Amino acid sequence: MRIPFVSFLPMERELGEELKQGFERVLTRSWYISGEEDTAFEKAFAKFCGVEYCVGVGNGLDAIMLALKALGIGAGDDVIVPSNTYIATALAVTYVGANPILVEPDIRTFNINPALIETAITPNTKAIIPVHLYGQACDMDSIMDIAKRHDLYVIEDCAQAHGALYKNQRIGSFGDAATFSFYPGKNLGALGDAGCVVTNNKEIAEKVRALGNYGSDYKYHHILKGNNSRLDEMQAAFLSAKLPSLDRMNEERRRIAEKYSSGIKNEKVVCPTVLPDCVPVWHIYGIRCEERDALEKHLNELGIGTNKHYPIPIHMQECYSDLKIKAGELPIAEEISRTELSLPMFYGLTDEEVQYVIDSVNSFG
Ligand SMILES: *Cc1c(COP(=O)(O)O)cnc(C)c1O
Repeated sequence: MRIPFVSFLPMERELGEELKQGFERVLTRSWYISGEEDTAFEKAFAKFCGVEYCVGVGNGLDAIMLALKALGIGAGDDVIVPSNTYIATALAVTYVGANPILVEPDIRTFNINPALIETAITPNTKAIIPVHLYGQACDMDSIMDIAKRHDLYVIEDCAQAHGALYKNQRIGSFGDAATFSFYPGKNLGALGDAGCVVTNNKEIAEKVRALGNYGSDYKYHHILKGNNSRLDEMQAAFLSAKLPSLDRMNEERRRIAEKYSSGIKNEKVVCPTVLPDCVPVWHIYGIRCEERDALEKHLNELGIGTNKHYPIPIHMQECYSDLKIKAGELPIAEEISRTELSLPMFYGLTDEEVQYVIDSVNSFG
């Protein structure tokens, strides 16, 4: 059997008609940037997240950068980010001129460990960016409590967790602002690059909107030195076609994850932990194994696609040599990069395929 790491085909087979209708609507209207589709999607996604405002932007990296800029964060400021995340979280901080301060995760959940955040706070710290990694919410009660006590902003990076719940509340509705990526492979993906910032704060929403539109509040009137990062009409139409199915498709990912977690029985393999307050959406199903590379080879030889999230931690990347963090200084991020293996996870994986993956992991010895 051949099972890819990810496939969009089952989703596209179901939603192809809606996607084509979205394309037709935009083409017929002949209006491509900042119009009806954008407004309609923003309204629907804000409602989905349980927040007041949603501002569409060009991608998930821009979303974080624009949120930081809207909060006035820049040169000389420290921003706490997880040591284990996709590098975009740290790059956004660097791009606005601030310093990313890397804080280690809880190895069981892969998410930033709130107990370690407080010791990383300096007089220059302005914000925390918790990342709801692999689809599971961070411990938001602890993070919001620390932020309140130290007067810090919280920007949730929700790029991997569209629709996930923490204490029955949607992620993206806890911090001062939250950012989403709609990169095609995310749980809610466009057919190209797209992203958004959500918030309950009108001023932040207006600033993000202006910053992503050349710093303009109305045509040819510029209040900020902005850039160009907008959600285009075509992508907004595609996202509107997919949003109504997001909860159902996430539910299917949860069903697959539960099968993996109950079916995988190999003493060399550790399955991910779900905390009681969390309903994850399983962007990634990451197992851990000391013999990860051998396990990966075993699965690949049996026709199963796998991936690693992430093979080189941020502090070990060449571009971040200026952080001067040596190997061994962030041991948990390093352990995850050495031992984590991501199994196939996408809407439309069949029971037979899931069972084949389970049997193949169990036959590794
Ligand atoms: C994908 C991702 C981003 C970046 O999103 P893009 O749309 O690809 O720019 C940011 N943060 C995390 C955690 C991501 O997974």
